[in-house]
Amino acid sequence: MQNITILGATGSIGASTLNVLARHPERYGVYALTAHSQVDQLAAQCAQFRPQVAVVGSADAAQALSRLLRAQGSSTQVEYGEAALCAVASAPQCDAVMAAIVGAAGLAPTLAAARAGKKILLANKEALVMSGRLFMDTVTANGATLLPIDSEHNAIFQCLPHGYQRLPANQGVARILLTASGGPFLTRAVETLDAVTPDEAVAHPNWVMGRKISVDSATMMNKGLEVIEAHWLFGVQADQIEVVIHPQSVIHSLVSYVDGSVLAQLGNPDMRTPIAHALAYPERIASGVAQIDLAQIACLTFERPDFKRFPCLKLAYDALQAGGTAPAILNAANEIAVQAFLDGQIGFRAIDQLIARVMDKLPHSEVTDIEALREQDRRAREVANSLIS
Ligand code: NAD
Ligand code: MG
Repeated sequence: MQNITILGATGSIGASTLNVLARHPERYGVYALTAHSQVDQLAAQCAQFRPQVAVVGSADAAQALSRLLRAQGSSTQVEYGEAALCAVASAPQCDAVMAAIVGAAGLAPTLAAARAGKKILLANKEALVMSGRLFMDTVTANGATLLPIDSEHNAIFQCLPHGYQRLPANQGVARILLTASGGPFLTRAVETLDAVTPDEAVAHPNWVMGRKISVDSATMMNKGLEVIEAHWLFGVQADQIEVVIHPQSVIHSLVSYVDGSVLAQLGNPDMRTPIAHALAYPERIASGVAQIDLAQIACLTFERPDFKRFPCLKLAYDALQAGGTAPAILNAANEIAVQAFLDGQIGFRAIDQLIARVMDKLPHSEVTDIEALREQDRRAREVANSLIS
């Protein structure tokens, strides 16, 4: 029996994870569930999965959750705040951590899980983009296991040689091909993009996801963050990572070998596949996802991304090349820009413009420790906010 902590249980990935766990009660127990403010949903999850601990974002939310849990006669202990998130991610009672908080807020607890040598199922790509080498070194130094949940990286993981050591040349890996759907605006006239609404931007053609990652998919910043994520996870350089637009989202990514072989992982676009893969690795368990019907899909197409349509993708490649804290600055500026767009404060095209201006204004430096990183993150948010108002 493995006991799991789910950071971000009420989100899209959190709910899909619980859906898979519920299919295998003999294999998995739930140690802790966390949410920021959705206490009703968290209380319902606690009633079904009976975690030992539930963590929320504030004292008020904790009080509201405690009231709901008392009414259920539940024995789940309620905590709040970042220290409590770090505690449930590193507790001895927990074997594996699903890191599914959105954005930089997930960094501290995900790092805490790495420091405690846990098995980490990483959905929270922003944490890795921000902390890069620091995160990977923490994983290695503490004997933690890192398994990618992002569908592309999970696909790549499945296509790499067994026991891959992040040294592509040693194992014949030439390139990584990251597929991208192109999001909802792949064919829309570029001149009309500034007029798109938040509802249009979050209406992804193939995947149902949280609002922030949905906007990231529309700008393709999501793919940019994934390029940086692939660099750290697999030890490949920027020029070995090619983004290929594949609107059907059936091939989740590919690995190209020096002998000309290309291995791909395919499946229906449903996050329960990578979640089940990582949970059970190296075994396989049922996820609830239907088998693909290739004859019905009939046609798979591919094209190159256009940096003029998707300037965020270029900004992310630039941040990766710049190194140091540049990806953390990129990520922070993007989080502020996306929220401002969702709140109706700025237009869609202002997202990439704002990020570019923050990148220009703020010098990047070496990543020394988490405190320095958080300071850069805070500075970048401050600059981004000042440019909006
Ligand atoms: P979501 O918005 O649906 O859920 C986010 C979760 O994080 C919620 O449980 C929320 O309560 C929690 N949260 C938000 N702000 C918080 C804060 N400040 N402190 C603590 N908790 C907070 O997001 P999602 O779509 O599930 O995505 C989660 C992560 O997984 C993101 O990093 C995303 O990029 C990544 N991811 C998601 C998908 C997908 O299909 N949804 C695919 C690949 C990767
Ligand atoms: Mg992805």
